[in-house]
Parts: sequence; structure tokens; C-alpha cells
Amino acid sequence: LKDYLIENRDQLAVTRDGVAIELLANINTVEDAQAATDVGAQGIGLFRTEYLFMTHPGIPTEEEQFEAYAKTVNASPLGRLTIRTLDLGGDKTVPYLGDHREANPFMGWRSIRMSIEHPDFFRKQVRAILRAAAEGEVRMMFPMISTVEELRRVNRMVWQVEEQLDKDGIAHGKAQLGMMIEVPAAAVCIEHFLDHTDFVSVGTNDLIQYLMAADRDNSRVAHLCDPLNPASLCLLRQVIEACQRRGKPVSVCGEMAGRPRCVLALLAFGLTSFSMSPAFVPIVKELVHSLDFSLIRELGDEILLRRSSTQVGSFLDKVLQEVN
Ligand code: PEP
Ligand code: MG
Repeated sequence: LKDYLIENRDQLAVTRDGVAIELLANINTVEDAQAATDVGAQGIGLFRTEYLFMTHPGIPTEEEQFEAYAKTVNASPLGRLTIRTLDLGGDKTVPYLGDHREANPFMGWRSIRMSIEHPDFFRKQVRAILRAAAEGEVRMMFPMISTVEELRRVNRMVWQVEEQLDKDGIAHGKAQLGMMIEVPAAAVCIEHFLDHTDFVSVGTNDLIQYLMAADRDNSRVAHLCDPLNPASLCLLRQVIEACQRRGKPVSVCGEMAGRPRCVLALLAFGLTSFSMSPAFVPIVKELVHSLDFSLIRELGDEILLRRSSTQVGSFLDKVLQEVN
């Protein structure tokens, strides 16, 4: 990274007109948490716990998970860590769960769907997360929620685990419970979900591939998953506005949150919290410093008048040139 970008590590991410923008990091390992601290992220917005499971010879025990999560909280910027419960399946598999070949793995038995059907396994992870929550500001979030029933069910499971920890006299903390918006059905009916969640994090990598019916890892069709396509921007604006109307914290943690043009579009829709790979934090912070939030906010309607990703992209490029 260029030195001048690293130099902004200790500066706040505030726009020219004084609006604070939260810049969080996405991480896979405890080492990444340190990297996030080094670049000046204000917390971890997404800790993908899959890597712990994928690099382990068998299912990690509660104790092993607790140690890993606690270490990660302690290495996280300001001790702020959002832990996502296991999101296996699709592109991420582990040998010890057996051979679950499916015709359409991304639309199949993955993520929270697996956790719900393996309550013992899920409770162990939740126990480890709640115990680690005694070490800092830990939030827990659930991937791939498709229905309100699923969300209510996992919330109930977490509350039961909390009660059990209390009964057993085991030290633990409190964690805010959040949902990821990655399935278009949940995005469309966002209002229904907001009564049952403390916060929302939008996983645009999955949300967009499901919205466009195009596998993000298939090079023949991945171009359809351009985050600037009008359909995804339109849906994102709805989700952001619905959360803000109800006072629910909302952030975007897909790859687009680290790309300047996309950041501009999301700011225009009113988003003020972004979670990205640590390497992008200094770049996005520099962009934030150069912008007037109130002026960018005025672009929201205009962006949505464009009819293609290319048109949106050229419009945003022009705006970027003007601010630089
Ligand atoms: C996403 O889908 O946008 C996301 C952040 O989750 P992952 O990339 O781990 O699927
Ligand atoms: Mg995802």
C-alpha cells in the first residue's frame, strides 16, 4: 500500500461536511484481524468462521472455537467483532461432513439451513461465540436467511443457549443478533424481518448472484453479477431505506463495499457503514474524505435512472473525476 494511504490509519472516516462513515473489515482468520487493526478499520463487520472449520481435521470443539473467537476479538480493532455463524456449502465444503453432492449446491443445503438441521452443532458454535462475547463488543450474525420463520428459529436457539449458559454458571457476554441479506426473498420483504433482528448486513456477493440467476464463480456468466446493474442498485436502495426508516443499523459487507464507484452509489442511497477486505479500508477512507455527503445523497435518484451497469458506471466515474 502507498505510504500516504497508510498515513490515514489514525484519521476518522468523515466526509467534508462532517458525516461519520463507519469502515469495518471482513476477515477469515485471527491474523486478518491484526491486519484490519493495522490499516485503521473501526471494527470487524464480517468474520467468516468457515476457515476455522475448513482448516481443521474435524469439527472444532466448543473449547477450540471459544479460544479462536476470543483471540480474534482481542485482535480486532476496538475489540469490535461481528462473527458470522457457519456458512458452509456452495463453494465452501469440509470433508468431514461427508459427501453431499447436489445438482445445485448454491441453491441447496447450505449455510444457516445446515445449522438449523444440526442444532447440537449450531448450539456449540453459539455457546463459543457468547463466551467470547465477554471479551469485547461481539455481534453474531446469520448467513443466508430466506424466511422470517428461519430467523425466529435461530434467534430462539440462541436465547436457549444463553439460558443454559446462565444455568450452568458459565461466563458469557451479550451479543447483538443480526441477519445477512443475501437472498432476494428476504430483501424484497425486508420489513417483515426487521422486527426480529438487531442489525442487518447485506451480503451483496450472494444477493446479486441470486438476483441475477448467475453464478458469481462461473466466468461465462459472472459479468451479469456487476454490482452496478440497475436491479441490484434498486433493491439495495430499498433495503437501506427500510432499515433506516426503522432505525436498524445496516451495512454492506459484499465485495462492492470496497470499490470506490460502488461506495459512491451506496452513499447516495444513504448508507453510512461499509465492511470490506482490510486492503481497501485506506482507499475508501481517502474517498470519504473527498466527498460531501449531502451532495452525494442528491445523486440517488439520478443513478437509478440509468438502464445498464455501463451507464451507471460512466455516470459514477464522472462524479469521481469531479471530486478528485
Ligand atoms: C456475500 O455473500 O456478499 C458475503 C459477504 O458472504 P460470502 O462472500 O462469504 O459468501
Ligand atoms: Mg455470502
